[in-house]
Amino acid sequence: MKYLLIAVTTYLLSFTAMASDAVEYRTELTFSLESSALNAVTEMQIPKKYRSSGTVALFLNKDFSVESVTGQHIESFEVKQSKKVPVWNEVIIEFSSSAQANNKAIRIKYAGTIDNNAQHGNFITSNQVHLSIDSAWHPVFSDFSTPIIGTVSVELDDDWEVFGPGSVTSSGNNYQVISTEPTIDVSLYAVKKPTSIYSDGFTVVHDDVNAERAEFVLNAGRQCFEKMNERFGRQKQLKAAQVVLLERPGPSFARGNYISLNSQTLGSKVHTHQYLCHEIAHNWTNFTSAMSHDYWMIESFAEYISAREVARIYGEEEFQNIVEKWQARAKGEAFIWREDTARRASHKVNYGLGPIALMKLQEKLGETAFDELIDWYMTSDVTETEALITKVGTFAGADTKRWFSALLAGKHSE
Ligand SMILES: [Zn+2]
Repeated sequence: MKYLLIAVTTYLLSFTAMASDAVEYRTELTFSLESSALNAVTEMQIPKKYRSSGTVALFLNKDFSVESVTGQHIESFEVKQSKKVPVWNEVIIEFSSSAQANNKAIRIKYAGTIDNNAQHGNFITSNQVHLSIDSAWHPVFSDFSTPIIGTVSVELDDDWEVFGPGSVTSSGNNYQVISTEPTIDVSLYAVKKPTSIYSDGFTVVHDDVNAERAEFVLNAGRQCFEKMNERFGRQKQLKAAQVVLLERPGPSFARGNYISLNSQTLGSKVHTHQYLCHEIAHNWTNFTSAMSHDYWMIESFAEYISAREVARIYGEEEFQNIVEKWQARAKGEAFIWREDTARRASHKVNYGLGPIALMKLQEKLGETAFDELIDWYMTSDVTETEALITKVGTFAGADTKRWFSALLAGKHSE
């Protein structure tokens, strides 16, 4: 209990120092490995917008029981099946009308069992733990777009190793995953006596069946990791990255410098290389609201940069294969971004029409100017499409600016 109080104090102090809109959590986690169960206490900051509306809804695994929700100005809470995601529950917390001031933390104590056979790819066994949003093991905001950062403290024996986004520190039986880049969930992988390979800051931890594949993943990932650091690392050097490569169900996903791959869905070597590089590139794309109409930039830049990496390593023909996929995907999409339209672009735009527009922009600007533009996007704090359009203007003049703006808006004049 004493430890927890210290943790809460540190956590509250750190709020004031935080510039980003991300919400901070601090979670203490213990396991009963033999019964696939976990016990958790999490302190989370609840942004004012939720408190002033009177309620906040947090997703949580439906097999979990919530023992308590405490904090200032909490009137009540209830747990019920989510309408939005029926396989999950929502913890709905009601605040009193005086809950307006400042950021307020709540504390949720909950416990439950992970269904290792639920095909979501999350599991707790006697020698491995793999957790992500796919089991809703940790509370996340039900709008799917409130970014969170924070620390998970895990208790496990000292022959275990823990991997996760950000950095991991350990002391005795306590491991801390300290995630400083905003993401939508809390994810980690823990394994007893891991098998891993490592080279120059890049780690691949894998199960036995993936020993051979791990070599390729290491080479591809490290190649991109080095290249991205070389190109964009002047502003922000990515010190380490890790891939967890397992034969498991569920989706592959990436959270910053932590990538978890389902080896059964890897695809070709070129595809795997591009996937890794796309995800590594995201360490330099600035997080905006996932619901905003500017979100296309994050995905389209990562997609385009990773495709150029494929061209550099595997040749133009492989790049053209990717372009064909973009074209097929983009079919039926009228535009990428319009000033007066708030809609979030679909995946057809993000991974199709958007990268095609960047390719056309490269043709227009020429390689040198375009590379400079890419460097600018990846190393500055750009979250709005208008800033990109303006920058194109400063590189290539008013006509090109108009051309690019029309291209994004789907009003071609080529
Ligand atoms: Zn992406």
